[in-house]
Amino acid sequence: MMGTTQGFTVAIDGPAASGKGTISKAVAEYFGFAHLDTGLLYRAVGAKVLLGVEPEAAAKALVPADLEGEGLRGAQVAQEASKVAALPEVRAALVDFQRSFAARAGGAVLDGRDIGTVICPDAQVKLYVVADAVVRARRRFAELTGKGSETSFEEVLADVQARDERDMGRADAPLKPAADAVEIDTSQMSISDAVAAAVALIEAKRAMLS
Ligand code: C5P
Repeated sequence: MMGTTQGFTVAIDGPAASGKGTISKAVAEYFGFAHLDTGLLYRAVGAKVLLGVEPEAAAKALVPADLEGEGLRGAQVAQEASKVAALPEVRAALVDFQRSFAARAGGAVLDGRDIGTVICPDAQVKLYVVADAVVRARRRFAELTGKGSETSFEEVLADVQARDERDMGRADAPLKPAADAVEIDTSQMSISDAVAAAVALIEAKRAMLS
């Protein structure tokens, strides 16, 4: 039986613009779970570093209000986020917050790069969401230009590839699927099909545990 104090955790990892954020939001809403986009933590640290704060100090001083605001969504902050995310002292400073979020009684979905491997190795469900880099860049390009950004597709693709390389190549908590993660490739999938696949996997695990 699922205890009331031990929450049900869904870990969703994958590269930039793979669809993991959209899937995470939708499944959290479907099951009534809380959702944490852990990329925002690294983006918030990156944004502070761009303002001159030292990375570890920025990570240790983060408060929930730092995670709000459209300013965190831009490409410059994303690149800086992936640079500070390679620093072990920054990652270490963010672990407790993520683990307490994951343990909340009502269930939680966390999405990021190392949720299934490092933050929540005991998560009840682990998904690894992937898509071709060109498909991901197309999505991110549409999202950015939709918000009025004047970036080019080539720039967005280069940004996505640089982050993939840095996130997969770092020594501490590199982006990779957990051994027990289920992969969802969204390259050819609609959002609703991808969400339905994730919901079905979570439903199956919940049924097994009840
Ligand atoms: O997911 P998002 O694109 O917002 O993440 C921004 C950056 O933060 C990533 O490129 C990655 O370097 C870092 N990150 C991480 N671990 C996580 C979430 C994000 O290293 N769990």
